[in-house]
Amino acid sequence: MNKYDSSKIIAYLLKYFNNFIITKNILKSDFIILNTCSVRQKAQNKLLYFFDKIKKVKIINPNLIVAVGGCIAVQEKEKLFLKFNLIDIIFGTHNIKKLPFLIKNFQKNKNKIIYVKFTNKINKNINSINYYNSIISKSFVSIMEGCNKFCSYCIVPFLRGKEISRTPEDIINEIYNIVNMGIVEINLLGQNVNAYSSFFNNGKKCNFSNLLYLISEIDNVKRIRFTTSHPSNFNNDLITAYKNISKIVDFLHLPVQSGSDRILKIMKRNYTINDYKKIIDNLLNIRPNMIFGSDFIVGFPTENKDDFNLTLKLIYDIKFDSSYSFIYSPRPGTKSFYMKDNISIFEKKNRLYKLQKLLYDNSVYWNNILLNSIQEIIVEGISKRNNFYYGRSRNNKIIYFKSGRNLLGKLLNIKVNLIKNNCLYGKLI
Ligand code: SAH
Ligand code: SF4
Repeated sequence: MNKYDSSKIIAYLLKYFNNFIITKNILKSDFIILNTCSVRQKAQNKLLYFFDKIKKVKIINPNLIVAVGGCIAVQEKEKLFLKFNLIDIIFGTHNIKKLPFLIKNFQKNKNKIIYVKFTNKINKNINSINYYNSIISKSFVSIMEGCNKFCSYCIVPFLRGKEISRTPEDIINEIYNIVNMGIVEINLLGQNVNAYSSFFNNGKKCNFSNLLYLISEIDNVKRIRFTTSHPSNFNNDLITAYKNISKIVDFLHLPVQSGSDRILKIMKRNYTINDYKKIIDNLLNIRPNMIFGSDFIVGFPTENKDDFNLTLKLIYDIKFDSSYSFIYSPRPGTKSFYMKDNISIFEKKNRLYKLQKLLYDNSVYWNNILLNSIQEIIVEGISKRNNFYYGRSRNNKIIYFKSGRNLLGKLLNIKVNLIKNNCLYGKLI
């Protein structure tokens, strides 16, 4: 979501300032925008490290302007000015569209500016290019933002606001625009995409599965993915969509967080492991080749060895291929912040290591299953490391191959014929 927002920031600035150039060389910049994350303390600490660098730029260029947006801006508001006196502008997660005007104001008056307000509108990506994706074949499309779930550990609902969904017409228009630019794979984006709920211009309701059917009818859309869905909103209509819409890929990232019902209850996740497994089983009945990924938190307050072993068992049973897995990070203001953080950091690290090791073994397992099979891939880029092309299979595996032709963005069949360093290689068919 932050990467997507960064691309929106750039798009708005390019639209309003015609002499604006993006540079990766921080020492040469006149203007630095930090789009921050505070989902875990580690993400938040990055701001500290970065300000050390910015101090050096300010010495070279005393006219440097520094703006801070994203979740830390919403969380800390004017307190950030006190912590980092180099900041000139603070803007909220809902206020990206305002940024060019804030900059103009600052340039005129030279007074520090703060603009952090929740609106009920999503800032769509005005020219629909993901600047952070040098990849030309796929693109995020934001369909909803915010979260109403308030899991006990999570700061997101406080900083991203209530769930708001874009209208289906708005989304479909954006997709038509980007497929005309050569995009073939759409990744629908939102904190909980399957909580999507909107209305057509004629007043009729549109839910997430309705939206999937509509998008699938666009000829040049070859694949549909989504990030992230929530188990408690994974209804039967959505499962049926997997039967009817072959453009939905054979991979699902469905965050579970823990394998223990006791922990899930304290996390306020609103499902049991049985509910979760039912979703997976129903999907596998329709798509036996499907592979799954998930998010895990280890060391949640009161998590004991039995709870943790249940998480390992789930990972083993479902054979998750990939994960975002983290040590629990207490977030001020959330419910669980007030629970005693009773597990030692040594134990937490140990659990994370075991969990990630098992996930690695699962990815080895899947690589071996795919060896000698034929996979349909969309070519995403050329690896800087070995000059091989790479693309993603329908079940989200990256496969490398060699070719003398320009194949970027193409949908191709590859015969997987080698596993090296746990990476898949293949031959173009
Ligand atoms: N809405 C999605 C996830 C969005 S947040 C869902 O609920 O499934 C992305 C991930 O960050 C979460 O799935 C969780 O694993 C992790 N996360 C959020 N808050 C955290 C915290 N306080 N400590 C550790 N990990 C956290
Ligand atoms: Fe955070 Fe839970 Fe909302 Fe996901 S569903 S963003 S984990 S509060």
